Parts: sequence; C-alpha cells; structure tokens
Amino acid sequence: MRFLIGRYHEVALKRGNRWRFVEQVKQNLRALFADYRLGPMRPRGSRLMVELPDELPERVAIERAACVFGLQNFSLSYPAALELDAMKREALERARQWPAARSFRISARRDYKQFPMNSMEIEREVGAAVADALKLPVDLHNPELEISIEVLPDAAYVSAGKIPGAGGLPVGVTGRAMALLSGGIDSPVAAYRMMKRGLRMNFVHFHAHPLVSPASREKAHELVTHLTRYQAHSTLTLVAFGALQREIVARTHRPLRVVLYRRFMMRIASALARRAGASVLVTGESLGQVASQTLENMMVIERAAKLPILRPLVGMDKNEIIAEARRLGTFETSILPDEDCCTLFTPAHPETHANLAEVERAEMEFDIERMVADAVRAAEIVRVTFPPQSAAKAA
Ligand code: ATP
Ligand code: MG
Repeated sequence: MRFLIGRYHEVALKRGNRWRFVEQVKQNLRALFADYRLGPMRPRGSRLMVELPDELPERVAIERAACVFGLQNFSLSYPAALELDAMKREALERARQWPAARSFRISARRDYKQFPMNSMEIEREVGAAVADALKLPVDLHNPELEISIEVLPDAAYVSAGKIPGAGGLPVGVTGRAMALLSGGIDSPVAAYRMMKRGLRMNFVHFHAHPLVSPASREKAHELVTHLTRYQAHSTLTLVAFGALQREIVARTHRPLRVVLYRRFMMRIASALARRAGASVLVTGESLGQVASQTLENMMVIERAAKLPILRPLVGMDKNEIIAEARRLGTFETSILPDEDCCTLFTPAHPETHANLAEVERAEMEFDIERMVADAVRAAEIVRVTFPPQSAAKAA
C-alpha cells in the first residue's frame, strides 16, 4: 500500500473555512486523477492522506500532485506497523530507493503521543539502523536524503524526500474569474497567478480569423491546455473580432483604434463572464510596458468593463514575467509567431494618453449593444480537460 501525504499551505491557517479548503483540495485531487481510482482521502491535522492505487505510476502521481494548489509539499509514503523494527525496515527500504544519496537524516514527528518513544528517540534509533546497514553517513543539517516518519494512531508513515507542492490556495475556493488570454507571454502568467489564489478560471480569446491565419486561436488553445493541468476543466471562448474591428476602423481616427478595440474586449468579456458565473476579469497588463498600457489608457479601457479587473502583473517588469513564463512552461508557446487581432489595422502611433470624453464621443458612432450582443452570440466555446482522456472515459 502507498499513500500520498499532502501538507497544506495557507489552507491550514484559514481556521473557520478550513473544511471548505480541505474539501476543495480533495475534489481537485480527484479531478486531476480522474483516470485513476484514488482510494479514501483522510484529513489528518495539517495533512491529507490519500491512498493511491497500485497501477498509478510514481512519476504520474508526482507530476500531478505538484499541480494541486493548496499543498505546500507532499510525499509518497509507506505505512509501517507501530513498532520500532517495522519503522527501521521501512526506512531502510526507502533509503535503498535513493542509491545516489551520500548522506541522510531521519526526521520523525509523533502526532500519536501514546507511542512510547518521542520523535528524537525514533530519529536516533532508526537513523543508527539505516547508517549501519547502508554504511551511509548521517548529516543533520544538510542531508542529501531526508526520510520522514510520521507517527499517527494507525501506523507510522515513512517517506523519502518532500516534494515541493504548487502552494497557493485550492482552485475554486475564492470564486470564478474570466481571463483575457491573448496568446502573448503575459496573460497566461496572469491567469496562473490568479488560479494560484484560488480562482477557477474561464478563458476568452479575441481573434481576427478568417481575416488572418488561425495561429493565435491555436496558441490560445495550447495555452489553455497547459493551464488546465491546474484545474482539470476549462472553457475557452473564442470571439471572432475581425468584423467588429473593421467597423471601428471605418469610423474612427487611427490613434484611437487600439483603445476602442480594448474597450470592446472588456464589454464582451464582461458579458461572457456574467454568463459563465465569473465575477472578475483578469488581464496580463503591466504598467507602462507598451504604448497602450499607460495609466491613462488603462483607466479609460477599464471604464468599459462591467466587472472589476485583476491585473496581477501590473507591478512586474518584462524580465520577471518572462522568467515566470519559463518556469510555468508557457513561454515557448507564447513566442510562436501569430497575428494578434490587435496588430490588424493597428496604427503606427497609437494613442498613449487616451481621454475618456474624446473616446466616448467617438463611440457615439456605434451601436455598442448590438455589436457586443453579436460577438457574444457568435462566440465558440471549446472545452478542455486534464487528464485529456478523462472526458472520454466519463462519457
Ligand atoms: P500579453 O503578453 O498577455 O499579450 P501584452 O504585453 O501584449 O500582453 P497588450 O497587448 O497591451 O499587452 O494586452 C494587454 C492585455 O489585454 C493582455 O495581457 C490580455 O489580458 C488582454 N488581451 C490583449 N489582446 C487580447 C486578445 N486578442 N484576446 C484576449 N485578451 C487580450
Ligand atoms: Mg499581446
């Protein structure tokens, strides 16, 4: 038998709501392992113990558990009977799986206080047995291998190495949001950051296909597929934006166009968000990064949104965002060439200091409600599931 022991992150601190956080972690774990039958899940203090099926490969268990927000770290753990010899045998077995380690330590934690030895005594006894059997030196301060023993009422759980978890709060626990996903570098990072704060994410992408190639749609789909490993189910709404852009181009002066495109994006995204039950929008905007992201422009664009906008990257610089995109694994997709809808009909010198009154005057030319309703009605919804085969299995 084998267990996943997940240790909570901030979840443990939210006293009153704790059970809700734990339930969400459990639900998210089940969803991310939908193609395996996970055994019972038992919360134990600040940990969650999950019985793993034998057919689940260790590599898969580790890869997926590392995507569950709310876990600070986790281990694959093997239960031993509540007696010193059984613990020694299991610790030895674990240590043998790490033949490259040149030093080790045992870290014991005794939650079951009736066990007659305290944690230091367990560490000393088991440590001596392993050191002796494997001729492996103990290093208390900087061991290459840490074997932990958690003594609980039913068994002692022995695991080698703590694997870093995704941290944050379990997806779904703080609500639902709609991320505006461009296919660029920033917006996937922004969506990830807010998912990590517990928001379940829906995605919307505006494209100008068939006026341009479908490359940006494909990129958005690939990015959503990547991000879905953190929440198991996503919807990506694809909005054809070319016709609307043409209408704007036909009736407004060049410098104002980008701000108008963006204001329409905010209106359409707000309508889609409400329909999906999302209460906020998320963008990858970062103050001053490009001409269109001056403070004035951001404020004028924001005024068109019907919901609050979260901008988790607003204070980050490009290099920091790129480093995060690389860690997240979205960078390579984001830099693939595409023709963003905003490059279509974009003036060489866009307005950098938009003025709300002037923008609103320009918009009087448009039947805004109709344009938004048309775009919403024609939007395509794509569902993305992780693991990819679980949707087929469930059907
Ligand atoms: P990104 O790297 O995310 O594309 P950016 O630095 O290119 O950002 P802008 O082009 O000014 O910045 O876009 C700002 C934000 O507006 C994006 O982060 C994204 O949230 C949203 N956005 C821009 N274009 C689109 C689009 N075609 N579809 C959906 N959202 C978009
Ligand atoms: Mg962009």
